[in-house]
Amino acid sequence: MITTNMVTTNMVTTNMVINNMIDEMEKKPKQYKIAVLAGDGIGPEVMTEALKVLEAISRKYSLDFSYTEALVGGAAYEKYQSHLPEFTLNTCRNSDAILFGSVGGPVDEQLNEKWKGVEVNSLLSLRKHFGLFANLRPVRLYPQLASSSTLRSDIATNGFDILIVRELTGGIYFGQPKGREGAGDSEKAYDTMVYNRMEITRIAKIAFDAALRRKRVVHSVDKANVLTTMVFWREVVEEVAKQYPEVSYEPIYVDNAAMQLTKRPSDFDVMLCGNMFGDILSDEAAAIAGSIGLLPSASLSEKGFGMYEPSGGSAPDIAGKGLANPIAQILSAAMMLRYSFGLNSAADDIETAVDILISQGKILTPDLGGNNNTSEVGTAITQNIMQLTDYAD
Ligand code: NAD
Repeated sequence: MITTNMVTTNMVTTNMVINNMIDEMEKKPKQYKIAVLAGDGIGPEVMTEALKVLEAISRKYSLDFSYTEALVGGAAYEKYQSHLPEFTLNTCRNSDAILFGSVGGPVDEQLNEKWKGVEVNSLLSLRKHFGLFANLRPVRLYPQLASSSTLRSDIATNGFDILIVRELTGGIYFGQPKGREGAGDSEKAYDTMVYNRMEITRIAKIAFDAALRRKRVVHSVDKANVLTTMVFWREVVEEVAKQYPEVSYEPIYVDNAAMQLTKRPSDFDVMLCGNMFGDILSDEAAAIAGSIGLLPSASLSEKGFGMYEPSGGSAPDIAGKGLANPIAQILSAAMMLRYSFGLNSAADDIETAVDILISQGKILTPDLGGNNNTSEVGTAITQNIMQLTDYAD
């Protein structure tokens, strides 16, 4: 027979066990599970440096980062005949964030089995699978790197700091129907540019929210003078803009935006773009910022899951030579700490360590006019982190 006393005693014991478990869990540092997908070309080289930097951060702040490496792209195809094997996808599903390198082979080998469709099969699939609709691409020209910029020197010396917010899972890259049919003179190929209200509204909100934490200026890039999709884009963005009276909003045609970026880049703060326009303008922004090797990116889902990767590609022309600039990959890791893990001080440390490296101008890869290799730059950034004095988080 069970008496009331026994029930009470059992409940007290159970509560004590649960409390002890909670105490134990609280004592154990949180583990941050990171899927590491280095990929092809320079991917593995720059990833090594990002992991070196993360190790320094984990020592400095006593953080528990757990890494699971998985193959993707051509590297995965060689072993599994798939650009995105199930193991890789599962690794991403079981992680808190994805740190991605780059995929792809030499541009003149795109039709080889190993490389055919590699970006669509791996990168675009990951973006679609995890609903990574919001692509944040910060682009900064450090005045110290003015000579590496393609801008006229009087414009470059002013520097600039732009955030490109690119819609990543819709628009012409994903719109249906797309295809190719017919033969001879009537053979044709087509893609479809399509956006619905929800897709435009949610990416516009990301841009306006970001602007609130910056200079409070949003330029929405469209082609409303020609494309029906872009007339709709403009209407919906204008509705969102009304909810942000503190932010200055200006629509701009994409062709004009491309030109103004080279003439007055410091007038831009947040540039809101659809998928294709954001893709093209961010490469232009990379050139005027000095090197694509500097530009990180974050791709986020509505639930806050994120994939972090350099804006550039696998750079087969310099792969394996120690020439790749690891800064884009390292700053992508910093974005991961900030957006996926909320570790703002740790992210600040990495960004400050990169700022110091660039302002000193002594240890740089050849794309920035330096003589150092990938590993030396990674090590120098790591040393800068260890020398920073602020340990508070
Ligand atoms: P790319 O970005 O790989 O290279 C363009 C130029 O920038 C090259 O001269 C390269 O040496 C240089 N570069 C790129 N990253 C650099 C770095 N970190 N440091 C120094 N220099 C750097 O573009 P691409 O040549 O057009 O494409 C090469 C391959 O990459 C292709 O297979 C393409 O499909 C693929 N690609 C992949 C991604 C991705 O994985 N996200 C993005 C773009 C291109």
